Amino acid sequence: MKFQGKRISVLGLGITGFYTGLFLKKNGADVFISDIKKKYELKKEYLDKLEQLGCHIKTGGYDEEAILSSDILVLSPGVPSKSDIVKKAREYGVEVIGEIELAYRFCPWPIIAITGTNGKSTVTTMIAHVLEQSGARVFAGGNLGKPFISCFLEDQSWDFIVLEISSFQLETIKEFCPFVSIILNISPDHMDRYKSFQDYASTKLKIFQNQKENSFLILNDDDPILSQIKAEKVKLLRFGQEKGYNRSAFLERDFIKVCFNGVEMEFSTKDISLVGEHNVINTMPVLLVSSILKIKKGVIQNAISSFKPLPHRLEPVFEKKGIIFIDDSKSTNVDSAVKAIQGINRPVVLIAGGKNKGLDFSYLAEKAKNSVKHVVLIGESAYSMFMEFKNKGISTEMACDMYEAVSKAVSKAQSGDVVLLSPACASFDMFKDYSHRGEVFKEAVRKIFNEK
Ligand code: ADP
Repeated sequence: MKFQGKRISVLGLGITGFYTGLFLKKNGADVFISDIKKKYELKKEYLDKLEQLGCHIKTGGYDEEAILSSDILVLSPGVPSKSDIVKKAREYGVEVIGEIELAYRFCPWPIIAITGTNGKSTVTTMIAHVLEQSGARVFAGGNLGKPFISCFLEDQSWDFIVLEISSFQLETIKEFCPFVSIILNISPDHMDRYKSFQDYASTKLKIFQNQKENSFLILNDDDPILSQIKAEKVKLLRFGQEKGYNRSAFLERDFIKVCFNGVEMEFSTKDISLVGEHNVINTMPVLLVSSILKIKKGVIQNAISSFKPLPHRLEPVFEKKGIIFIDDSKSTNVDSAVKAIQGINRPVVLIAGGKNKGLDFSYLAEKAKNSVKHVVLIGESAYSMFMEFKNKGISTEMACDMYEAVSKAVSKAQSGDVVLLSPACASFDMFKDYSHRGEVFKEAVRKIFNEK
């Protein structure tokens, strides 16, 4: 793909649009970037740098003329692929792709791509960690950290590209074909963007649509949708809790057993540094990738035990007066909050709530019945969640902000309990993003205990 003299439009000027603009300009394209946000809402450093390089930028709307006369339109993941301007561009014969597809068409290195509703960042980072420990040069990014396209802007080549891929990013792929693709699980999320759960699930399955015999697909066999998949064209490996005739990784007592190409390996679950049953399951695809790439057992073992939990994912942050505070702010849907509660074997005071993405909280309330002693709810969804918890007979109250929520949680907690922030909702109603929410939670704990 040559860009010299090509007219390329980019929609969205967040981190993806920024790096896409840099990449296209470096390769000689005539670049037009539009964002519906006003100038003051966008990062000044992005605007300044791109303008300085000669990109044409339209803020507060679309540069429709430029978009409709472009050779290619590149979408950022936040821009719905079915929005009016995108539909119109297609009608005008403009090729519409996402940044993942654009980067893929340039990528000479093998790609390991991870999708799923929950656990993507954890598994992506763990795979990158194992590969790095084995001495490989690894670019890890995508929906996490830096976008895929930025791997071409660093002054080096890579042995592997490890990508976290969201469903939004999969909407706009065409030829994207990883060497290994992994689907961790599919449970309801983003129901405000998709017509139905089926629609959301089929987007996730696009990750392996172009894979052939020389590539691998790794699936969670305990997932009701994924266990039904018959992908005949690829080498398919399945993992799950219990041994099954077609499973290449499973649990046997305290060990994960991995069988690949006639070679068997065992890894003690005690060597896994992360909290929770679900993280034992998350480790299975990491071990399978490591086996495919023939990494030595000792290297894998050291890597999984030295792996540090990512911030805001079931991260124990303080212990005060015998109460443990866990920041799981990245838990933005029902299943991740359920896994958090199930992963903690102490009484829990739960802080939840935020922006609802069209999810049903009755399942969370049901699962909370046994181990959650009290719930404090915040944000837009507080009232509807309140009714669900109350209906299950769980002691529940609401709070106006995080400080009040933590104060109320602390007053209900005793030594030996856990105060868990696991919102099951997005953060954008009250915070910049999930990490801001986690920081405000930590700040509230600090303030409460310094004041006392
Ligand atoms: P993602 O990148 O898919 O959002 P993360 O690794 O950032 O995944 O974790 C997001 C949330 O999901 C955290 O609260 C984490 O504890 C939880 N989580 C991680 N793995 C799983 C899993 N296999 N099933 C359910 N929840 C999980």
